[in-house]
Amino acid sequence: MNRREETRPVFVGNVQIGGQQDVVIQSMTSTDTKNIDATVSQIEKLAEVGCQIVRLAVMDEEAARAIKEIKKRSPLPLVADIHFDYKLALIALESGIDKIRINPGNIGSIDKVKKVVEACRERNVPIRIGVNSGSIEKDILKKYGHPTAEGLVESAIKHVEILEQFDFYDIVVSLKASSVPMMVKAYHLMASKRNYPLHVGVTEAGTYFSGSIKSAVGIGSVLSSGVGDTIRVSLTGDPVEEIKVAKEILKSLEIRINEPQIISCPTCGRTQIDLVELANKVEHMLQKIDQPLKVAVMGCAVNGPGEAKEADVGVAGGNGEGLIFRNGKIVRKIKEENLYEELLKEIEDIIGKKLVG
Ligand code: SF4
Repeated sequence: MNRREETRPVFVGNVQIGGQQDVVIQSMTSTDTKNIDATVSQIEKLAEVGCQIVRLAVMDEEAARAIKEIKKRSPLPLVADIHFDYKLALIALESGIDKIRINPGNIGSIDKVKKVVEACRERNVPIRIGVNSGSIEKDILKKYGHPTAEGLVESAIKHVEILEQFDFYDIVVSLKASSVPMMVKAYHLMASKRNYPLHVGVTEAGTYFSGSIKSAVGIGSVLSSGVGDTIRVSLTGDPVEEIKVAKEILKSLEIRINEPQIISCPTCGRTQIDLVELANKVEHMLQKIDQPLKVAVMGCAVNGPGEAKEADVGVAGGNGEGLIFRNGKIVRKIKEENLYEELLKEIEDIIGKKLVG
C-alpha cells in the first residue's frame, strides 16, 4: 500500500491529506448550518469518536456567515459544501473555512472561478472537486450513454484542468457512485492520471446495515490497492455511526494500527456463556481506548485461547464460568457474572489507566 506516498499533500487546517500512509476520516453534519449550536454540538460528537475533518452544507449566505462562529468553536477543520454559487464560496473563505468543495466547471464565468481560486490561494485553502455519478455533465453522459467510471473521470479531469489553468494544485478529487464496481474502477483510473489526493466514498450507500457493507466493500477495495487518502462513509442516519464504520474499515485493512481491536468468535454448540452480550460490552468499552490492544472474547476454552493467541488479553467461556488469558496463556478462572469486570481489570493493567464507566 505505497501508492498514497506519491500523492500531493494538501492541508485542511492542520490535517494533512495525501502524501502519507495515514488515511483521514471525515464526515458531514446533518444539521442546518445556520443553527450554530446544533452544528457545533454535532461536530463535537463527531470529534469524540475520531472524525478528523467535517463538511457542512452551505446553502445560502446566512449559512456561509455562520461558519465564522462555528469555526471558533469547532475542534475540527471545516469544509464548505457549495454548489454553483461562487459568492457563497467567497463568504465561506472570509469566514475562515479550511477547505471548499465546489466543482469549478459549475461556477459559471471564468472570472468567477478566478475569484474563488485566488481567495483560496491567499488563504492556503484546498478545493475538492466532487464528481458524482448522478450529476455527470450532459455531454459526457451522451458520449458514454449512461454513468460510467470513464465518464466520472473525464468529468473530474475537466474540472481539474480549470484549476490547473490558474496554476492551482491544492486539489482533492472524489468520484463517487452508488455502484461499487463503478466507483472502484473510477478511483483506479483517476489514480493513473493525476497524483492529487483522492477522497474515497460510495455515495448514497444506504442505511446503517447495507450502507456499512457497501462502503466497506467499495472503500476497502480502493484502499487495499493503495489508492485513496481520505474517506467518508455515507450512511442514512447519525453521522457518528459513519465514523465508527470508517474506523473499522481502516482497522480491518491494518492502515490504522494504533487502535484497539476485538476478536470474537461466532459462537457454536460449545458456547455455554452469554458471549454475545459480553462481546458487545467489550466492544463498547474499547471505544474509550486510544492505543493498540487486541482483546479476544471466545466461547470456549477448547479452542478459544489458541484461536486468539495473537490477542493481548481475552476471555474463553466455560460452563457458567470463563478463563482469562493473556498472550494466549491462561491466567485464572472466573465465574461468568464477573468475567467482564475481571477482563476490564486486565485491560486497565495493560494500558496503565482506569476506564471510567
Ligand atoms: Fe465454538 Fe469455541 Fe470456536 Fe467459539 S471459540 S466458535 S465456542 S469452538
